[in-house]
Amino acid sequence: MDSKNLINGEWVIPEEDTKDVYNPSNIGDKVGILHYSNSAHVKHAGEAAQLAFKDWSKRTGAQRADLLYKVSSQFEEHREELALLASTEMGKPMNEMLGEVTRAINILRFYAGEGMRECGDVIPASQKNVLQFSKRVPLGVVGVITPWNFPVAIPIWKIAPALICGNTIIWKPAEMASLTATRVTELFVEAGLPAGVLNLVIGKGSVIGNTLLEEVKLEAVSFTGSTETGQWIASACAKRNIKFQTEMGGKNAAVILADANLSNTIPAIISGAFSSAGQKCTATSRIIVEETIYEDVKRELNRAVSKLKVGEATDPAIYLGPVASRDQYEIVTKYADIAKRGNIIAEGICISDLNQGNFITPLVVDGFEIDHPLIQEEIFGPIAVLIRVKSFEEAIQVCNNTIYGLTASIFTSNLQKGLRFLDEADAGMVRVNLETAGVEYQAPFGGSKMSSSHTREQGTAALQFYTQVKTCAVNFE
Ligand code: NAD
Repeated sequence: MDSKNLINGEWVIPEEDTKDVYNPSNIGDKVGILHYSNSAHVKHAGEAAQLAFKDWSKRTGAQRADLLYKVSSQFEEHREELALLASTEMGKPMNEMLGEVTRAINILRFYAGEGMRECGDVIPASQKNVLQFSKRVPLGVVGVITPWNFPVAIPIWKIAPALICGNTIIWKPAEMASLTATRVTELFVEAGLPAGVLNLVIGKGSVIGNTLLEEVKLEAVSFTGSTETGQWIASACAKRNIKFQTEMGGKNAAVILADANLSNTIPAIISGAFSSAGQKCTATSRIIVEETIYEDVKRELNRAVSKLKVGEATDPAIYLGPVASRDQYEIVTKYADIAKRGNIIAEGICISDLNQGNFITPLVVDGFEIDHPLIQEEIFGPIAVLIRVKSFEEAIQVCNNTIYGLTASIFTSNLQKGLRFLDEADAGMVRVNLETAGVEYQAPFGGSKMSSSHTREQGTAALQFYTQVKTCAVNFE
């Protein structure tokens, strides 16, 4: 398969600069060709989106919803195929990818419904015979920049609300998810996407991103990715005074108190830390345990993690697939080498040839000071560190001792401590007896501190980002 751009309803395959794409589960297996776009493609996409905005923004919510419902049906029909493509492009296990496509279908339907809901307020006027109200109006052209780790769901949770609100889009997906992005866009076209409403431009972040942010007329940018890139995007948008939303890194903690029910807690820790091979912004990477049950937790984690199998993403016997790329493999391997200088509590097993793909065995370690890079830096791989604390108060302090604030969980049967944690844990998404990942699409999603620009995605929160408020008054005397 070849990646291709969609600009003004036309498919374009840039030929000057290409790269072969290999399956991270089998690095000798070529799955397609990535075609890098240049600045001219981005500018052309900007003009197309600008032109299409005139008509798309005038359509009714019901008309825009019609497109989203049709896209959701396309996704449903091609669910397996889309999941398999993404799984072979970036290595997410097939069962997780199927779940991700289902989430995307639900998101499309959720936002389609929003086309028929209220979008403002009537506000009493102090003057008589004046009708005063506010309404939400579309912004214009929105830049959508997405990462590779949720190659279907993250783009859809930006594109669907942006479209239902009447905006047009230039989408720049991560290089490592370009084939999946091409197929996702094809499904929009097959559902009847009008020309220019969604434009796809594939290529390098530095080339496309810089042109998009500095030379294209935009009204907003929604970005998910690393904190470093997010900060650059935030400053570029601030200079132009355009709306931005940056969802960035995490270093999420799960606290296990002495009264936790371990038979429910351990599976939630395993899933939080090791599904998607730890490559979730919401992954559990610090496990903070009260000292009286520390040895029990170590024993239970050892039992569970030593059974975890890593291997080819399409093999139903595996729990973890490979990490997404060779670069990612090298970064995570360096952290794994450091982690192994501590105490290894548990390590999983690789059931494929270790050299065949970007396989990294899941690892739980302890023996590190709380300011150690392993406990402070986002690893984005299957490594979790155990930290022993004396009390609930110390657990909260350690949990908050990070520059990030995306998600945090506590496992306890004490209601009072659970509720205090929800108040005192400094993260955008806080949970009791639930894993750190898995926040539902109809609820607001986002972080505090360096994890987010403090806006929220998903749920109805996204509608606030993709619109602006107009205050209207009519004297009908
Ligand atoms: P990344 O920052 O490298 O890339 C993200 C996107 O930005 C890609 O499309 C990339 O091409 C683009 N980009 C790179 N340089 C750019 C530039 N100068 N201008 C504009 N765009 C540019 O991140 P990644 O490696 O794809 O994703 C992993 C990161 O994403 C992790 O840090 C993870 O925590 C984070 N993430 C956060 C969330 C969240 O909701 N908070 C969700 C998923 C992933």
